[in-house]
Amino acid sequence: MDSTKEGASKAACGCNGCAPEENGRFLNATPMLNELESGPWPSFVSGFKEMAERTKKPMLRGVLDQLEYSYKTRMGYWKGGLVTVEGYGAGIITRYSMIKDKFPEAAEFHTMRIQPPPGLHYNTAMLRELCDIWEKYGSGIITLHGQTGDIMLQGIEQDKVQECFDELNQKGWDLGGAGAGMRTGVSCIGPGRCENACYDNLKLHFKALKHFSGQVHRPEWNYKIKFKFSGCPNDCTNAIMRSDLAVIGTWKDAIQIDRDEVRAWIDERGIDTLVNQVISNCPTGAISLKDGEMEIESRDCVRCMHCLNVMPKALSKGEERGISLLMGGKNTLKVGVNMGSLIVPYMKMETDEDIEEFLELIEEIIDWWDDNGLDHERIGETIERVGLKQFIEGVGLEADINMVSRPRDNPYFKAKY
Ligand code: SF4
Ligand code: SF4
Repeated sequence: MDSTKEGASKAACGCNGCAPEENGRFLNATPMLNELESGPWPSFVSGFKEMAERTKKPMLRGVLDQLEYSYKTRMGYWKGGLVTVEGYGAGIITRYSMIKDKFPEAAEFHTMRIQPPPGLHYNTAMLRELCDIWEKYGSGIITLHGQTGDIMLQGIEQDKVQECFDELNQKGWDLGGAGAGMRTGVSCIGPGRCENACYDNLKLHFKALKHFSGQVHRPEWNYKIKFKFSGCPNDCTNAIMRSDLAVIGTWKDAIQIDRDEVRAWIDERGIDTLVNQVISNCPTGAISLKDGEMEIESRDCVRCMHCLNVMPKALSKGEERGISLLMGGKNTLKVGVNMGSLIVPYMKMETDEDIEEFLELIEEIIDWWDDNGLDHERIGETIERVGLKQFIEGVGLEADINMVSRPRDNPYFKAKY
């Protein structure tokens, strides 16, 4: 139904006395929000309206009305607070209306952060259960996935939160992180579906988040800290730019070359294409042509993945695989945007013992940050403030030339390409 028509109720203007159903309508007029539905892009306004009409949930109508009012007055009217479930101190983002007298239907619109499985591998039965429970207790609106990596269940009232969580938890779902603790981890699809994966990032993600589960649910540090696990240097999770602890799959030996596939690639596209699209684009000049054969100088390769991405059948990752750990990546905060700095150039990640060793190192790093960091200071900011030397001495790491020659940088460098 078009809520812009003449005769629609006036509730979106701030009037509290209308009853749109009496006019055979469910939604109030929202002329300013409707503007967002024009243009080529999908609009959240259309989604909200469609859902509100279908479910007839007054909360959704109230949220649209309050948003229209916000646009009119150029003010936001949500405020925070504290909502939690038994045994937890985080995971629910509160949203209380400051003008609930005007829009009582939208008095509360809290968000439940739910942890997704590693690599976002769902099955339809899980998703149906999640949707059914959420429609029963909440607004029905779901964001897959928020910037935090969580499934965002948006719009629930405080008195329904515990019951909703209990039912979700019975089906195997758990709340994600919020506040000054370990946040929800993110991993790429990894070896489940990608040939580039250099380690089982899904397993490591699962083990790491289980290990730090207490700190996910009960924040106890200076500020937030977050893992992202990318299976290879393509870094599809954006770990280096958007996580404090970026775990990137890599290899130590040479890129594997399938000579027959290289010849087939050249036969199909021509030698000029090889030169222009592969050899010339290697950032370190590690690739050359010798007697018509493509050669890669491993010592010069910085694992940028370009040649492997262009020639996926002919070139593949090396055989001696593991991880690199980069630390300190984050988006804008007090001191601007940072890419992670390389802290551990190579670490094996094959056995349960390797995982244990990795978790011990992370514990050591977090302890150091907890002792040395200031309130609301991300770990990269702490390292920047006290110095890399003090950090590596503090956590017992060996100094490595890569820490100096691959320092942090501005992520927008990558975003340009
Ligand atoms: Fe595949 Fe690498 Fe992307 Fe993971 S980061 S999905 S392993 S290309
Ligand atoms: Fe060059 Fe990147 Fe290929 Fe290494 S992975 S050889 S740096 S293009």
